[in-house]
Amino acid sequence: MISKVIASKTLVEILKEQAKQKVKEINEKLGVRPALTILMAGNNPASVSYVTKKIELAKECGMKSEIIYLNENSSQEYDKITTELNNNKDINGFMLQLPCPIELENGFNINSEKDVDCLTEVTYQKMLTEKQDAFSPCTPLGILRYLEFLGVEISGTNFAIIGKSRLVGKPLFELLLNSGGTVTLCHSRTKDLAKSISTADVVISAVGKPNLLNQDNIQEGQILIDVGINKVEGKLCGDIAKDAVEKAKIITPVPGGVGPLTVMSLITNTIDACYMQNGLARPTWKVQ
Ligand code: NAP
Repeated sequence: MISKVIASKTLVEILKEQAKQKVKEINEKLGVRPALTILMAGNNPASVSYVTKKIELAKECGMKSEIIYLNENSSQEYDKITTELNNNKDINGFMLQLPCPIELENGFNINSEKDVDCLTEVTYQKMLTEKQDAFSPCTPLGILRYLEFLGVEISGTNFAIIGKSRLVGKPLFELLLNSGGTVTLCHSRTKDLAKSISTADVVISAVGKPNLLNQDNIQEGQILIDVGINKVEGKLCGDIAKDAVEKAKIITPVPGGVGPLTVMSLITNTIDACYMQNGLARPTWKVQ
C-alpha cells in the first residue's frame, strides 16, 4: 500500500541540489558567495537547535554563514550590529532568531533587500503586493512548495488554515489567496473548528497543540499539513493525531515535514537576495 504520510526529505534534497548549483554559478561568474548571518539572543534550546540547522544547511550548500550572539539586555547593541550588517555588502541576508528576549525599541532594523526571514513590515507589505523582489516568510514559502510537490493546484482549491500568527497563518492566507485559493482562517476564538474546516480540501494546522486535529474533526479524503511543533513525553509531534491518517488523503509528518522546508526556504531566499543584490535575475526554484 502506498503511504499517505509524505515527508519533505525528497523535496528538500531537490531544492538543496539547486541551491548548491546556484551558489556555484554565482561564485564562478562574480566571485561572490551568498552569505547569511543569524542574530541570536539568549539560549532557548529550541532556538539553538533551529539556528544550528540553518547554519549547517547554508554551509552544506556552499554559502557563508555565521551566528552573532547578542547581549540579551541591549537593544542599542542590536541597532549597532544591524546597521553594520545593513551596510556590509558581503552580507546578503540576516535575521533575528525568534522568540527574542530583547525589547527592540525601534522594531526590526533590517533593510528589505536583506530581510530574508520577512521580519519587517516593509518586506511584509512587499509580499502582499506581490513585488518581484519580495521575500515570503520561510514557513509559508516552504508550505507552498510542499503543496506543489504534493500535486495540489492552489487555484480553485479550498483551504482551511488554523492559526493566524504574523509569520505563519496570516501570510500563508495571503499567499494562497493571491494564487487563487479559497481560504478560511481559523484561530482560538473560532466557534466550531470542525465545521469551519469541514469543506476544505487542504487543512493546514499551525497552532502548537497536540491532537488538535483527529479522526473526529477531519473529513474523509482531506490533505493535512502539520506545521505544529510540540513535545509530548520528550518526543516531537505536530498538531495532528496519528489516527487522522485513517481518513486523510495525505498527511505531512512531524518531524520531517514542514520544518526542514522552512530552513530550506531561508537558504533559497538568501541565494535570491545575493543574485538580486548583484544585479542578476532572481533564480527560479523547481520542486520536481
Ligand atoms: P502562535 O503565534 O502562538 O500562534 C498560534 C495560533 O494558534 C494563534 O493564531 C491562535 O489563535 C491559534 N490557536 C491557539 N489555540 C487554538 C485552538 N484551540 N484552536 C484554533 N486555533 C488556536 O504560533 P506560531 O508561531 O504561528 O506557531 C504555531 C505552531 O507552529 C507552533 O507549534 C510552532 O512551534 C510551529 N511552527 C513550526 C514551524 C515549522 O517550520 N515547522 C515554523 C513556525 C512555527 P489566536 O490568534 O486567536 O490566539
